[in-house]
Amino acid sequence: MNYNKMSVTDADVKGKKVLLRCDFNVPQNKETGEITSDKRIVAAIPTIKYLLDNGAAVIACSHLGKPKGEWKEKLTLAPVAKRLSELLGQDVIFAKDIIGEDAQAKAAALKGGEIMLLENLRFDIREEKNGADFAKALADMAEIYVSDAFGTVHRAHASTAGVAAYLPAYAGMLVEKELSVMGKALENPVRPFVAVLGGAKVSDKIGVINNLLDKADTVIIGGGMAYTFVKAMGYEIGNSLLEADKLDYARDMLKKAEEKGVKLLLPIDTAVGSEFKADCEYKVVDIKEMPQDWMGLDIGPETVELFSEAIKNAGTVVWNGPMGVFEFENFAVGTKAMAKALAESGAISIVGGGDSAAAVEKLGFADKMTHISTGGGASLEFLEGLELPGVACLLNK
Ligand code: AMP
Repeated sequence: MNYNKMSVTDADVKGKKVLLRCDFNVPQNKETGEITSDKRIVAAIPTIKYLLDNGAAVIACSHLGKPKGEWKEKLTLAPVAKRLSELLGQDVIFAKDIIGEDAQAKAAALKGGEIMLLENLRFDIREEKNGADFAKALADMAEIYVSDAFGTVHRAHASTAGVAAYLPAYAGMLVEKELSVMGKALENPVRPFVAVLGGAKVSDKIGVINNLLDKADTVIIGGGMAYTFVKAMGYEIGNSLLEADKLDYARDMLKKAEEKGVKLLLPIDTAVGSEFKADCEYKVVDIKEMPQDWMGLDIGPETVELFSEAIKNAGTVVWNGPMGVFEFENFAVGTKAMAKALAESGAISIVGGGDSAAAVEKLGFADKMTHISTGGGASLEFLEGLELPGVACLLNK
């Protein structure tokens, strides 16, 4: 996969109409529809400002939630337009439809230095189906396409890939940063390259573990998925999470690591709980002595030390997935310790989206990381080495 893509800063945007795919999929209050965090809108500002300052007429678009092709009042992008306007300190013209009369008329009248926002793309079923007529109608309003929604580049939708068939396609600044940091980590990492993987299920990370065993020097596995590996090594795991149908896969990965000379680090001790509850009884045990009727809910202190040492000496670290049930305070210790180790290490530190990103932010370590990915699913597919349709469609450098 070629990550070296033309950037918005390579394009001549002056006086041009630019269709800008943003990620305005903001969290909302379910009752009132109110925006509860404007982080994603704030993140889009640099590319928008760049375009406006350079004389482009910006036609911004995004999805919000899962309306599945239906017009849902609670999922209108109108509140986003309002917040965006406050952040930019200028008017944001809001279209009442996506490719309908209102959008077309407003797009046609839009001048350089002005910005408009289309209504929620997913109000039209053709967006997710990548309908060619819908993609063409979107493209027809503009002369250039810029993709700045990394969170959706793993989807081949009309606004993330389809439009690129009709317009020259460039990476926005957010996408450009994701590609340069993560692309470099995978293709030409500063070594040792350490991957830290956690989360609930082996089945969600099958491709990721496999691909990273080809690229990394050390692969660390914690979280719920570690216990399937522990079981595959022949130890009892009590009531811990087990994916019995992935035992063979775990054995294959252990073998692959050995053959490739990659260090595969698994927990050596674990915090076990009496039941899956925040206030359950718990204790730390050796991984080879897990008691029956107890379940592994976090890595133990010796494991924290082992994993932290690998992170400390790394040149590049990619982290995706919590080390335990971090939602329960007593079992958040391992995840917090990884965030701290990463913050303190001099390594290039890349945190995948989702839970690990949330942990890093909550602990106040966000500033210490080289990069926190804005896309959970997209960053996982990136680490799997899969071709991302929303990236593949951009112009190569
Ligand atoms: P993922 O979405 O795959 O990144 O997984 C995140 C989820 O994994 C979180 O909700 C954690 O509570 C859960 N998790 C992590 N460790 C464990 C464990 N040892 N047992 C059960 N669930 C876990």
